[in-house]
Amino acid sequence: MAEKLDIRKLSKADTELVFASLGEPKFRAKQLYEWLWKKGATDFEEMSNLSKNLRVQLAESYEIRSITLDKVQKSEDGTMKSRFRLHDGFMIESVLIPVPEDDRYTVCISCQVGCSLTCSFCATGQMKRVRNLDTAEIYDQVVQVNKQCLEHFGKNITNIVYMGMGEPLLTYASMMESVAMITSPEGLGMSPKRITVSTAGIAKMIRKLADDGVKFNLALSLHAPDDVKRNEIMPINEQNNLEVLMDAIHYFHTTTGNRISYEYIAFDGFNEGIEDAKNLVKLCSRFPVKVNVIEYNTVEGVTLTKARQEQVDEFARYVRSKGVMISVRRSRGKDIDAACGQLANRE
Ligand code: SF4
Repeated sequence: MAEKLDIRKLSKADTELVFASLGEPKFRAKQLYEWLWKKGATDFEEMSNLSKNLRVQLAESYEIRSITLDKVQKSEDGTMKSRFRLHDGFMIESVLIPVPEDDRYTVCISCQVGCSLTCSFCATGQMKRVRNLDTAEIYDQVVQVNKQCLEHFGKNITNIVYMGMGEPLLTYASMMESVAMITSPEGLGMSPKRITVSTAGIAKMIRKLADDGVKFNLALSLHAPDDVKRNEIMPINEQNNLEVLMDAIHYFHTTTGNRISYEYIAFDGFNEGIEDAKNLVKLCSRFPVKVNVIEYNTVEGVTLTKARQEQVDEFARYVRSKGVMISVRRSRGKDIDAACGQLANRE
């Protein structure tokens, strides 16, 4: 039997052509499209406004390759980490980070199975890259986690960060298409201002984002304030040093005007001294940027450990005293597999 096609690989125009060949009117294609994206249907049988005969015809040639929930870990602080199985058996993870007091419900989603960038502190980096996710696999994570958010908190998610497994700028087309569907009225209709795409720092692609006129926010996983230290923990820095990166981000800022942030994991005795703080301040001088200092979640086999709290506070105080916006985030989900890639990598 011939392999069925994934129907969500079809554009809206393609679906119209398919329906025309089946002798169906154009508005049926719109109905199907709505079921697939807006309503998140996982089976043709759910599509109650399509005739039984049409549902059977579609199911003969196509399938809906939805991701399926495999496991959930719930932290005492409310953080929920979900492991999803893809149609070919690979696993990815997404995280719901609820902050009810701020009415903020953020989902962190993955873009790749594994990652090719081998950052030394990262659990996903230990997996190597297996494959990119397609548009629907990225989109589905938002739909599924939104359902969890509604079930557990009675709220829709408010923010999306592309900060899970993989490098979003290395799966550019599906990342961009997923944003387009998430923000489209035909999809979830969310504002792009609620979306942040995080990169380990690929200068050429940051410029491309700017040229493509994206409306979402950009985060750079900075993690070290000079090239020597950054090369040590993030090999991608060797071809994209900080000067080249800062030029690209400056271009992004002047072209789009969108918000920029730096993610900065504080490692004990590595990047949290006053010299590091001074270097970080220099990197914040060319355009407005907010720094988020993040507590490290230990990863097996990694020698870097999390910085002491007093040290982090002193570091942040210095940076703040120089007029840079900086916040210190405590780790979430400490009692579950909190580090990115840890749950998907298990078993
Ligand atoms: S930190 Fe991000 S870019 Fe680096 S290895 Fe992990 S997933 Fe890849």
